[in-house]
Amino acid sequence: MDKIIIEARVNELATRKGNPHVPFLPGEIIADAKACHDEGAAIVHYHGRADDGAPDHSPAFYLETNAGIRAQSDILIHPTLGYVANDADALGRFAAVEEMMKSAETAPDFAPMDCGSVNVDWWNPEEGRYDTTDLIYKNSTGTLMHFAERIAHYGLKPYLVSWNVSFTRQIEQFLKMGVLREPAYICFCMTDEIIFAGHPGTEAGLDAHTAFLPEGFRTVWTVVNYKGDLFELTEKIIRSGGHISIGLGDYAYRDGARNMTNAQVIAKVVAQAQSLGRDVASAAETRDILKMPTVRIAA
Ligand code: ZN
Repeated sequence: MDKIIIEARVNELATRKGNPHVPFLPGEIIADAKACHDEGAAIVHYHGRADDGAPDHSPAFYLETNAGIRAQSDILIHPTLGYVANDADALGRFAAVEEMMKSAETAPDFAPMDCGSVNVDWWNPEEGRYDTTDLIYKNSTGTLMHFAERIAHYGLKPYLVSWNVSFTRQIEQFLKMGVLREPAYICFCMTDEIIFAGHPGTEAGLDAHTAFLPEGFRTVWTVVNYKGDLFELTEKIIRSGGHISIGLGDYAYRDGARNMTNAQVIAKVVAQAQSLGRDVASAAETRDILKMPTVRIAA
């Protein structure tokens, strides 16, 4: 079994109401990336945020943050394309990555492709209604093919997010077409509590994802539980050869009465993996497991 790849998902669009340790600004994300690396994370995923927590998808945010992360460790960088906070056309959604690719100091290692479209309205459990009713995470086939072309052009690794089986089936078609290459790195995104666009964060929800892994292609899979406690599944994932993507961006993790930091969440995953006999992959070992290409800086 491969060593386990652990990704720190440090902030997403999470507020500090649930956990005050969610990093927003570049300096906070850079510090968290280093702390998570030191505990065993091989990948860091983050979203640009303003000091009040609002999304900030300006290229300048990503250039500063990537350069700061690079200067401190070899952790692999996985930025966002902006999720629903950047509802532009395909070119517009990839614009920040195009800027990042102008220098080795600011280039990431992954770029994400969420391989389908879903309703991502947030449920308000106190009031028994949706807070929004028209939030669609749109990823058309043409947009995804544009992303795949640009990602391959730059020698980045596509980070293929599957919210449900239909996304995985689109990944399979892209593999058949040669739009994507093996091994495909697939993130099974499960969702709980306030968002229902993914599979439930249960054993059955995960089994339904893995049952539809593309046949005849080499795949490596990791698991997210957006807005749910992934520790309910980490033992199963570790034992079944999967990888783990986790952090305060997804869930306000606590240890008893104490709010955990991202680094403490990573340390808990590492301890569990080691207790189950599975070693943790370094950034260099992750590059090897995923057969990551060499990044090409824009001319
Ligand atoms: Zn994200």
